[in-house]
Amino acid sequence: MPNAKAYSAASATSPLAPETIQRREPTKRDVSIEILYCGICHSDLHAVRNEWESVMPTVYPIVPGHEIVGRITKVGSEVSGFKEGDLVGVGCLVDSDQSCPSCRADVEQFCPEAVFTYNSPDKHNTAPVTYGGYSESIVVDEKFVLRVPDNLDLAGVAPLLCAGITTYSPIRRWGDIQGKKVGVVGLGGLGHMGVKFAKAFGAHVAVFTTSPSKKEDALRLGADEVIISKDEEQMKQHAGSFDFILDTVSADHDVNVYLGMLTLDGNLTLVGAPDKPLEISAFALLFGRKSLSGSLIGGIKETQEMLDFCGEHNITADVEVIPIQQVNEAYERMNKSDVKYRFSIDMASLKY
Ligand code: NAP
Ligand code: ZN
Repeated sequence: MPNAKAYSAASATSPLAPETIQRREPTKRDVSIEILYCGICHSDLHAVRNEWESVMPTVYPIVPGHEIVGRITKVGSEVSGFKEGDLVGVGCLVDSDQSCPSCRADVEQFCPEAVFTYNSPDKHNTAPVTYGGYSESIVVDEKFVLRVPDNLDLAGVAPLLCAGITTYSPIRRWGDIQGKKVGVVGLGGLGHMGVKFAKAFGAHVAVFTTSPSKKEDALRLGADEVIISKDEEQMKQHAGSFDFILDTVSADHDVNVYLGMLTLDGNLTLVGAPDKPLEISAFALLFGRKSLSGSLIGGIKETQEMLDFCGEHNITADVEVIPIQQVNEAYERMNKSDVKYRFSIDMASLKY
């Protein structure tokens, strides 16, 4: 089996460090991809540190990375949609059973047999679990490979494969947000994409942030208003006024406060995945008939739709491009909400 350079963590307290892993020879339906850029998602950090142990414990070593953009180097004999040289993306999913109700409804992320890009049992037995995109290459079934528009900056495209689809999907599902008051909680990787998509679909967008220093950036990214969530006066002024709020916060926080920001029949959708259970006041939902939902990435069809939309509207993530040797520092900064607004690893740095 071909070797690939990668970065992995050996335990919940180990830094990411260089490692050589194996990738499978492409089967008839696989494509081999040379990875050019991989975004750093907060989920990578949760997984590396085993913060989601109660839901999906991490198997070590872990090679994270599910915001992958690259170029096809080889295709299997039955691959019909791609050829060598094509620019492609791979997100959080690399396989599913293709036959269950979720797969038939184009939401493969809810398939009971879904295989995630890293830390899922590896059906090909190349390794105990799948290894993600902090690597020079990956081999993926063509059904889970996305076409990347050729007019966009590739470093900024990589984060679309997770941060992009995770915010695009719930915004689309909510319905027509044209002229509606939409809130985005947390201006990080997901949050800044949420602002861009909500704006692109015509909403009046307000950002809730704990970081006053992000105000100018939030406005530049398209927000109409910025609310400093620690400022009670500012929060009071907006109580009961939002139609839809997307919560992207990665850590423990009080969601009742955001339920209080919703108008009659308003909806708060969680995409952030803090490790600890949230406390919800029933009354925060009862008064105003409000709803609380969650959303998990998006299916392959919708991810392609999102990428095509980004191509048409020139939307990419705002990225800080880093060599992979700075990945541990990037994790520390992301953990302190200090990233503008996504790290994207230039995989050429693996050759250094
Ligand atoms: P990120 O770039 O670190 O952004 C998270 C933002 O949340 C921070 O920038 C910060 O924004 C805010 N925040 C952080 N700690 C906070 C606290 N204690 N209280 C209030 N606000 C806080 O992370 P990300 O990559 O966008 O991911 C966000 C979350 O979504 C993570 O939990 C990740 O695992 C999850 N996720 C879920 C899905 C899904 O399918 N549902 C997909 C990808 C990621 P401000 O500085 O503006 O306050
Ligand atoms: Zn992610």
